[in-house]
Amino acid sequence: MAFRIIDKQAGVSIDDIVKLGGMHISTKKAYLKLLVKNPKAFRKKDNISRLVLKNSILPHFYVNRAGYIALLEELSIEVTLKKLILAEVDDMLTLKRYYSRTWFNIETVKLLKTIFSYEDFADKKTVPFNAYHLSSLLNVNVCVYCNRIYTNTVIGSGNSCIIRPTFDHFFSQSSAPILALSFYNLIPSCTFCNSNLKGAKEVNLVDHLHPYLEGFGNDAQFDYIQVAYHQDRSDPRNYFIYIRKNLNTTHPKYKRVFGDGKDDVGNVELFKLEEVYKSHADVVGELVVKMDKLSSIHSDNIVKMVASIGASRQDFYRYYFSNYPEAKDFIKRPLAKLTNDIVAKYCPLVLE
Ligand SMILES: [Zn+2]
Repeated sequence: MAFRIIDKQAGVSIDDIVKLGGMHISTKKAYLKLLVKNPKAFRKKDNISRLVLKNSILPHFYVNRAGYIALLEELSIEVTLKKLILAEVDDMLTLKRYYSRTWFNIETVKLLKTIFSYEDFADKKTVPFNAYHLSSLLNVNVCVYCNRIYTNTVIGSGNSCIIRPTFDHFFSQSSAPILALSFYNLIPSCTFCNSNLKGAKEVNLVDHLHPYLEGFGNDAQFDYIQVAYHQDRSDPRNYFIYIRKNLNTTHPKYKRVFGDGKDDVGNVELFKLEEVYKSHADVVGELVVKMDKLSSIHSDNIVKMVASIGASRQDFYRYYFSNYPEAKDFIKRPLAKLTNDIVAKYCPLVLE
């Protein structure tokens, strides 16, 4: 669903962005160390030659050996690695193009994958910093693509890695192996979105939202239509959930959110959000019942009641609807946007 993880402002330094993302400076160093550690071996020229030599049994490596040596030398420089690891979203595109030489082939991808090894990073045993530590610091508790599934990380006593979300590679590892460990290319997400829905499909910044850059905001809002009148107001069969389009079709964001009719363009379409959310009509039923109760009380009395218990209206909303009122907190609770959009439309008093 693309809920913005980080409020990324123009002019903010990379260190600030890293801090905003919950990544402490010492952790950032540890993160970099992970990579710097591996290519240390490449620092010595003989090692680079040995690596190329080792692979030169493959004709491709032999034919392009000059290119490989130059590439590996470039990747053995710490500054280059930092540039790759901390590349901002727009810069990742430039780097992706720069590291797509015409002579690259499947063997090159394999080689780059061993240097930028996501497999190592994902391994619980990797020290001092692995995917569990990164997700723990990001503290994104619900999938940023669907806002349905908990993605919290649990690190137990003795620094044992227990559970974590999967990391979607926004630019896939096969199309951009060079970005396999880049911070902004790793999107904490649920298995359904990452594996079942996005899978190997290639995405881009024109056709899809990048969760570090932008979210749906109010441009796409959940709403429902009452389609049946079963006596129990909470009956899920009464409600059909859909996503309201609040953007002009000519707006460039429209395509990234709703698509252009083609398969898998736009996040709503790629993550099949309207289909997937159909199963949450029971939640809408419960919201309707709660909102009915409130509408039977005069608005002045609600204000008085809230004041009498010493709560703010936001507190009241928080506890009554078990949700957070601000969009920045939607990544803390499953279905937070669904709840918020519906209450904001049909019971705005508690959110004002
Ligand atoms: Zn998801």
